[in-house]
Amino acid sequence: MGSAVGLCSSPRAWGCDWNIARLLCFAAISWVLMTQMEVGAWTYHYGDKSDYSWEVARNFCRSFYTDLVAIQNQREIAYLNSVLPHHRTYYWIGIRKINNVWTWVGTSKALTKEAENWASREPNNKGRNQDCVEMYIKRDNDAGRWNDERCQKKKRALCYQASCQSSSCSQRGDCVETIGNYTCDCYPGFYGLECEHVVRCKNLDPGPDCSHPLGEYSYNSTCKFLCQEGFELQGLDTLQCLESGNWTAEAPECAAVKCPALAAPGRGGLNCTHWHGDFTYNSSCAFSCETGFVRNGSETLECTALGQWTGLPPLCEAVKCPVLDSPDRGQLNCTHRHGDFTYNSTCAFSCETGFVRNGSETLECTALGQWTGHPPRCEAVKCPVLDSPDRGQLNCTHRHGDFTYNSTCAFSCEMGFVRNGSETLECTALGQWTGHPPRCEAVKCPVLDSPDRGQLNCTHRHGDFTYNSTCAFSCETGFVRNGSETLECTALGQWTEHPPRCEAVKCPVLDSPGRGQLKCTHWHGDFTYNSTCAFSCETGFVRNGSEMLECTALGQWSDHPPLCEAVMCPGLAAPGRGRLNCTHWYGDFAYNSTCAFSCETGFVRNGSETVECTALGQWTGSPPLCEVMRCPKLRGLEPILMNCSHPLGSFSYGSVCRFRCTQGYFLNGTSRVRCQPDAHWSDKMPTCQEEAAPYFKQVLLYMGGGAVALVALLLTGMLIALLIKRLSDKEEEKTLLNPTSDLGVTGVFTNATFDSNL
Ligand code: CA
Repeated sequence: MGSAVGLCSSPRAWGCDWNIARLLCFAAISWVLMTQMEVGAWTYHYGDKSDYSWEVARNFCRSFYTDLVAIQNQREIAYLNSVLPHHRTYYWIGIRKINNVWTWVGTSKALTKEAENWASREPNNKGRNQDCVEMYIKRDNDAGRWNDERCQKKKRALCYQASCQSSSCSQRGDCVETIGNYTCDCYPGFYGLECEHVVRCKNLDPGPDCSHPLGEYSYNSTCKFLCQEGFELQGLDTLQCLESGNWTAEAPECAAVKCPALAAPGRGGLNCTHWHGDFTYNSSCAFSCETGFVRNGSETLECTALGQWTGLPPLCEAVKCPVLDSPDRGQLNCTHRHGDFTYNSTCAFSCETGFVRNGSETLECTALGQWTGHPPRCEAVKCPVLDSPDRGQLNCTHRHGDFTYNSTCAFSCEMGFVRNGSETLECTALGQWTGHPPRCEAVKCPVLDSPDRGQLNCTHRHGDFTYNSTCAFSCETGFVRNGSETLECTALGQWTEHPPRCEAVKCPVLDSPGRGQLKCTHWHGDFTYNSTCAFSCETGFVRNGSEMLECTALGQWSDHPPLCEAVMCPGLAAPGRGRLNCTHWYGDFAYNSTCAFSCETGFVRNGSETVECTALGQWTGSPPLCEVMRCPKLRGLEPILMNCSHPLGSFSYGSVCRFRCTQGYFLNGTSRVRCQPDAHWSDKMPTCQEEAAPYFKQVLLYMGGGAVALVALLLTGMLIALLIKRLSDKEEEKTLLNPTSDLGVTGVFTNATFDSNL
């Protein structure tokens, strides 16, 4: 049994130099295979009694050796292929598919790609379940390479055995297989053949809490350091002894805990006492503040074991004065040096336009937190007080106080008065009103004058011809006022009425009288006071009344107007047995009246048919007479007896004559005749005939007619004679007429006779 060196038996062994290991293994295995019985050290073995399934083969190896061989490099493969004999079923090796991963069963590590040594077209898992790996030894092709096979197949077990035990090298180093022996590759911190010695570090001063698992102050000893309260380690709190024999660091020291450095507050001072160093554990600092500033916070701070001050550093804050507000109607302009309304702040006050400051202009905040005075107020500028105007009212609106800035005053006047001046005044910022106060003046009415022919008497209460002035009007005698007696000036500046006029008193208008003329003289207007009117009448008319009238102051004429009356003629009467038919133009029997006369039947007019009344009041002629119509006078001669009646005159119209004859005669003709209106008898006068002599009677009757004609002739002659006589002697006119009238008024004839000769 020469010295032999195993190739590698543990994971750490794979890290050795492969050139040296290959030479050593070559010699050892050559020898072992030859004996096939060698045990100990790192050697290869195979079972040559029988073939086994993979599981059985592994149990075989683990029972008699260490395990199925673990092949992890090409050179080892080449070695095995060269030294092992050819076997028909080849050799199982320690690789198996576990969870579908090819795994080294000895180390349970997966087969790495670079360690693979598969034959060509393997692993093919042919027929499935080829989960185990065989190694071709001395095959024609793919010698030394691997093939996956079903694990139940029986093949030779290829085993290996290691020399190192679990207790080798004091378990303080890697056991390195050698042929038939091993050497120890000690872990760091150990040394010796079996790694039985431990590296030491230098001893430490007492104090730290140390643990020494491998020896006092030796490799792997650890020491923990602690400091008293208020101190802290300067360095690592734990030191460890390294395999080099050095501690991991220098031993630490304890230093006082530091607090943050403090500085004096603004406007203040800082006074500190340090026991263990500036601003460290137990240092205490006192704070103070300048005049006008006050500390806000703790007076003293102390640095605690935790490196914290017992509180926040105080601040020096400026002493505060009460906050000031802008005055009403003003502004505040402050300058703050140390903060709003604090020590040394100064505030200046100003007022708006129209307001004036009452108080100090500037205040300053003192160190005592008080202002140097009371804040001023802004008071409205004052204007002079205004009074209501006479006869008016004042209505003011005060925004800031009576009669002060911005006060407005409106003026109004009573009814009948009008404002003379501004309606509204306003108090300006200068304390002056925008104008003079107005006055209330009475409303003016137009000036009135005395009317023509009249007087004016006015009473003025507030000034000539102004509101409430009253004016009374009067007129001279003979004139009367047309319009109101009194006018009053109203609040509107107008008189209550139009001024009256004095108009002349009017008399009734006069007209020209019928059939007359009127001629008037008017002094003050037609038919008014003092007018005079003269009356005149046309021809044929005569004035009845005053010729001249005058209109008096009472509006009455001095007399009744006269009338023009027609000139009167003497009244006319119808003649006896006649009629009067007058036409009167201007009154009965007056100027221009015409009267026509007519006579009854049986009467004839003697005189003018018509008369007219002249302007002289005389008729144009004498009224005519109606004389009865006369029939021829009858004369009754023996033997005719005639008895006549003459109601209207002798043998005149209406006369009736009755006839009879004396004894012995008989009446031949009518017994009665009557005088007709045409002055003819109604029949022939009868005759009386002897009863024996009718012819005679007839003659008589004939003769009787001739007698009548004779009588008429006689009468006519008499009338002519009378007219001649009358014309020849005018002075005897009346007496001449009398016989005529006598003729008219004839007496009663008792007997009538006819001139029988006629
Ligand atoms: Ca296969």
